[in-house]
Amino acid sequence: MSSLPADLLAHAVAEARKGRDEGGVPIGAALVVDGEVVAVGHNRRVQLKSAIRHGETDCLENAGRLPASVYARATMVTTLSPCDMCTGAILLYKIPRVVIGENRTFYGGEDLLRARGVDVTVLDDAECIALMEDFIARERGLWNEDIGQP
Ligand SMILES: [Zn+2]
Repeated sequence: MSSLPADLLAHAVAEARKGRDEGGVPIGAALVVDGEVVAVGHNRRVQLKSAIRHGETDCLENAGRLPASVYARATMVTTLSPCDMCTGAILLYKIPRVVIGENRTFYGGEDLLRARGVDVTVLDDAECIALMEDFIARERGLWNEDIGQP
């Protein structure tokens, strides 16, 4: 499997589409270790009535309990710039690389990730942008809830 950032992003985008089709927030993620997708996930706050199932945290939970040596070789791939909660999870588990689909519709903790030595790649992907723009236009209230805004 190719581990080019754009190819990795396809796994996260497929999850984001799944979330949209379920009526949820269209954000997806994949955890890749040594070129293999270990787990995928998507934002399921609506579907599970969850406070914490963002794309990245859902993916980490789906991956299950992993030793630090695995996280140390991992890349977190996410369709959208990670929020403070997901940034914290990435830092906690010392995941060294993050690939982000886009950061135009939301700019999360990228500066903190970089300051802590995480390798951050932003792809500015047109489909990721379109998924979020469509969603925000339709569901402004739900989106504000997702990012802790009144
Ligand atoms: Zn998040």
